[in-house]
Amino acid sequence: ATPTALLVGTGRGAQLGILIKGPEVLESTRTVDTVVLDKTGTITSGQMSLRDVITAHSATRADALRYAGALEDYSEHPIARAIAAAAREELSSLPGVEQFENLAGLGVRGEVNGTFAMVGRPAMLADSGMTLPPALTEATRAAERQGLTAVAVAWDGSARGVLVVGDSVKPESAAAIRRMRELGLRTIMLTGDNETTARAIGSNVGIDDVIAGVMPEDKASTITQLQQEGRTVAMVGDGVNDAAALAQSDLGIAMGSGTDVAIHASDLTLIRPDLSAAVDAIRLSRRTLRTIK
Ligand code: ADP
Ligand code: MG
Repeated sequence: ATPTALLVGTGRGAQLGILIKGPEVLESTRTVDTVVLDKTGTITSGQMSLRDVITAHSATRADALRYAGALEDYSEHPIARAIAAAAREELSSLPGVEQFENLAGLGVRGEVNGTFAMVGRPAMLADSGMTLPPALTEATRAAERQGLTAVAVAWDGSARGVLVVGDSVKPESAAAIRRMRELGLRTIMLTGDNETTARAIGSNVGIDDVIAGVMPEDKASTITQLQQEGRTVAMVGDGVNDAAALAQSDLGIAMGSGTDVAIHASDLTLIRPDLSAAVDAIRLSRRTLRTIK
């Protein structure tokens, strides 16, 4: 292998707004045939906003926002930021929280004004014996079919509200995914979000496959499984949850707008944080390899 070709690849990367960890990165990347893409913050903007609040058991919108907002104020998750911001805007103040707990990939819980409350995946509440009343299940399904995410809020032993949040697909995503497919790459969305929401967004951007409902600790083993099937995998992600999967993949690509952990775990960082830069990165690593051979 000629180090010169590798250095040229690195320099061209800089011109394209792609930071390459070291020349050996391009060398160690064999021909990628599969691209795994995180959803929130990678395909979509990651800037979530609160779209709707649906309540049950005579709870009001303000009640739901008070309990959910108080808990989410302690979390950094994009869903949490959307809910806490809306709660702060609509309510004059948020109650204090004790015994706060963050359950990665599930939600948050704690005592709000001495009352136990939780917000998260509807399935997490159901697992705690708080089944959603039919009106809330209906609202959840309707939101998910539109590519939105519904989280449920419970207090006083019952699920009493659903908060619908969503962000939008980045303008470059669909075209970039089309270019990946034109390069012969199989495109797969990997997300912790539910199947219905993920599929709605996936079909919007023309992705080949969707792997949804994956817990943060299982994202890396999903990559391993694809590799065991004989695939050479590039992974594009931005979150803390993506770090292990980025490290496991043959070519880890982090969004420059992403978390430090994700950037650290990756081989490449996209300064221009959209998927068209990811296509450039994959083409660059292929071209560099051709030069070396
Ligand atoms: P993603 O792959 O989109 O980053 P996560 O693994 O972080 O997903 O979360 C998966 C799901 O867990 C979310 O779609 C949501 O239903 C739930 N969840 C995680 N964190 C929170 C939170 N802070 N508040 C409410 N729900 C949450
Ligand atoms: Mg993400």
